[in-house]
Formats: sequence, C-alpha cells, structure tokens
Amino acid sequence: MTNLASIVGASARRNPSGVAIKLDDIEISFGALEVLSAKVAALLAGRGIKPGDRVALISPNLPQMPPIYYGILRYGAIVVPLNPLLKAREVAYHLADSGSILAFAWEGVMGEVAAGAADTGTEVIPIDAGFMALIAPLEPLTAVAPAEKDDTAVILYTSGTTGRPKGAELTHENLRSNAEVSVSLFNSRDGDVIFGGLPFFHIFGQTCALNSAVMAGATVTLLPRFDPVKALEIIQRDKVTIFEGVPSMYVALLQAPGRENYDVSTLRLAASGGSALPMEILHEFETTFDATLLEGYGLSETSPVISFNQTDGIRKPGSVGTMVKGSQMRVVDDAGADVEPGAVGEIVVAGPYVMKGYWNNPDATAAAIPDGWFRTGDLGRQDEDGVFFIVDRKKDMILRGGYNVYPREIEEVLYEHPAVAEAAVLGRPDEAHGEEICAAISLKAGAEGADNPEALIDDIREFVKARVAAYKYPRDIIILDELPKGPTGKILKREITVP
Ligand code: AMP
Repeated sequence: MTNLASIVGASARRNPSGVAIKLDDIEISFGALEVLSAKVAALLAGRGIKPGDRVALISPNLPQMPPIYYGILRYGAIVVPLNPLLKAREVAYHLADSGSILAFAWEGVMGEVAAGAADTGTEVIPIDAGFMALIAPLEPLTAVAPAEKDDTAVILYTSGTTGRPKGAELTHENLRSNAEVSVSLFNSRDGDVIFGGLPFFHIFGQTCALNSAVMAGATVTLLPRFDPVKALEIIQRDKVTIFEGVPSMYVALLQAPGRENYDVSTLRLAASGGSALPMEILHEFETTFDATLLEGYGLSETSPVISFNQTDGIRKPGSVGTMVKGSQMRVVDDAGADVEPGAVGEIVVAGPYVMKGYWNNPDATAAAIPDGWFRTGDLGRQDEDGVFFIVDRKKDMILRGGYNVYPREIEEVLYEHPAVAEAAVLGRPDEAHGEEICAAISLKAGAEGADNPEALIDDIREFVKARVAAYKYPRDIIILDELPKGPTGKILKREITVP
C-alpha cells in the first residue's frame, strides 16, 4: 500500500517543471511541490509531531495549502481539514474531537482560530506571506512514510444525516483509489487545466480537483473564493479544460454579467456533484458553454465518487449515472433488504471508497455501517439499465396528508419557470396536513414580473400546479435575494424559514 502523498513524487519524477498549482501569477511546479511538502514534513518533525498525530489545516484554496496537505500525509500524520469559516467555538470542538495538537491556519481567520485553539491548547502556525520563508531553510525530509491498508490519511468532518459533525476517517487507500476514479472518468492528463474553485477542505474538491490533478500531472488553477466572473476570467486566461462545480456554481456562471465576452472554448468537460443538478441548468450549460456536463454522486464518507454519468457508458440527464469501477451500490428498505427493481429506497454502498468509520465514534459507525453497507441517507432508485436516480435526501422528504413529496421533483419544475434562478422546496408543520409544502426562490436578473412580486408568485404557483399532482405544488412561495448556501455552494435548507 502506498502513501497518498506519493502521487506528488511520481508526477515530480515524470514532469518536474510542469505546473502543479497556480494562483494568478504564482506557480508551483511538481518538483517544487515535492520539495515544499518534504520541508513541511521536516517542520512537523521539528515540532515533535509523531506519525498518526492529527494536524488541522484551516485554509481556503491558497498555494501554500497543497504543500501542507501532502507534507502532513507524507510524514504519516493525519490531516484534519476544516472550513475556514468556522467560529471559535466550532474550531475548538473540531480540534478537541480530532485531538489535533497542531493546526496550520490562514492568517485571514486567525482571530477565530486562535481563540478556539486557546481552549484546546493546540499550537497554531499561520499560513501567511512568511510561511514559505519559515520552511525555506529546512532540510527536506525526503522519506515518505509507509501507509498500511487501513491507515487513516484524512479525518473529514461532516454533519452526515444527523447530529454534531462527525469525523469520517478516510484511508490513504480510500483517497488514492477514488482519485484514480476521477482521473479515468475525466481522462485527465498532463496538459489539462482543472478549475480549482471547489474548496479542498471538502471531499469533492480534495479528491476530484486536487488529488486527481496531481495524480494525472495536470495543473489545478485556484480560486480561493468562488465568484462567477472571476471563474470566467480564469477559464479564459488559463485555458481551463475541466471545470468541476456544485450546481449553484453552474447557475451563477449562466447568470454572470458579460458571460458571452469570455472565451471558454478550451473547456472539454464539466462535472457536477454535491447536490442535485436541475435538468434545466444542465441543458442551458451545455448549449451555452458547448461542453459536456456530467453529473456524479458521492459523499464525504465515500471519498466521494461512487456513481457517475460515464462518457463511455450510458448517459441519462437527471440521473447520477452508473456505479464507478469498484463501487457497489444497492437500494434497500428500512430492514436493509433489496427493494423491487425500480422501486425507491435508501441507497447503501460498499467497496474501496467507503470510509473506515467515524473517528472515535463506534456507535455512529455501527449505525452508519450496520452490515458492511454504508447507509447514505439518500433515497433513490435504479432503472433497468443500472442507472441510479437520487430522489431526495431521506430527511428532506415531506409528508403531506399521507403522501410522500420529494422536494427535488418540485424544484425541477420551479427551475423551468423563466423567472426562477434558484429554488428550494421544504415542508413546514401544518395542522391539517401534517406538513405543508413551501418554496423559497431567487429570481434571475431582470426577470419579467419582478416589479410585481405578488402577481409573479401567483404565476409561479399556477405554473407548478399545472405540472404536478395537486398535493405537491407549493402553497407558500417566498422570494429571497439569494438562497443561503454552505461553503461548497450547496443550498442550506435548514437556514431558510418559511412563513
Ligand atoms: P457531503 O458529504 O457534504 O459531500 O454530502 C453528501 C450528500 O450530498 C449526499 O448524501 C447527497 O444527499 C448529496 N449529493 C451529492 N451528490 C448528489 C447528486 N448528484 N444529486 C443529489 N444529491 C447529491
């Protein structure tokens, strides 16, 4: 078994001067990435860190981040990537839960990090302009620690379906094999330029952008904070060939002012995941950007990709494709038995991409993997061609008057309305029906009827009513300037309050 960090050395040997990481005019070659990560390993040795120790990494996608990530890994310590938006008490919770004795943190969030780390006694090394100078004099620690099959590489915090954030323990093998999946799905290679706007502290960006680019010898061009116009500039400037994003990024790109003035002709492939890609957006993107957009499915606990619309396989818009190589997926009922072919049930997964378990949490691990199959918490079905469709999250299903309503189905219809930019459908408690269906939407810039919101809301309600069964259309619709989103751009339904 090999240490995940050995993908850096392999690319450095093949193409030492090739650009691995780029942020505007800062470039790090594969050769430099290898040396810098070996210096970070030397820094850890100097601070008395031992293999197996947890080291937190709290940063947006900056050029210093990959050398630190691979440096911690090659030393044999465990990376705990944390969202830089966490507040002090959340930082303290994650540092304490993971037992991180050292943290690397971006200077821009040092206030919250330092306050959190003071609670746990964690030493903090700032990621700032002086960071490269700090490691420059160190003698690179050239050895890469061996990694056994079950050795944990990364503890990735995720809310999962319930409760406080839990640390998914991903092994070197989990992450390496899933990066391989990305490389083969995207057919990425030396010369490709991958858009690095998905945060690397989240699994989608970490595996599919960072690790897969390094493995393939491709360049990843960073955008630390997503902005659609900046993204278009980067695509044009760096001749991006592969774009990876969550659906809200595709919505934003389509809405970006002056979009038609950018040359995006180098794009050959786009990939979407993390939440459902509305079919309307898929079609609009493919026609506007003249690039194939493929949707995949995965979770933090599965490193992440387990199914994908594969270019050499069956492609069905609206689906999450077929199982990727090595992944095993089934659709089961509450008792864990397979449902009838084509019926809706919970998707469960086994195979090389499924995490070892939740860090220090055997109860949560046993609940999530009761029988060797990881419970995703997602409802879905598999059609006669083996293609999977995600119906919704189990917990997002609305029960109205005895009927199951899957918000995603209604959201798809809302996206078809010409004025709607984004939509989220949710339930609220209701005396008569148990739950009532509500929608929060944002409008496209310059949408017709926006000057008379009440009439527009009536129009949208009628639009949906005409297209779905009577128990499914949203009774209440609210218009927001923007829907609340998490760090990766997923719409956060729990932060939306409906009247
Ligand atoms: P995370 O662990 O934060 O990556 O979130 C994983 C969850 O994202 C899954 O359990 C799904 O609910 C959702 N998800 C990921 N990809 C898709 C997709 N293509 N369609 C619908 N939901 C998705």
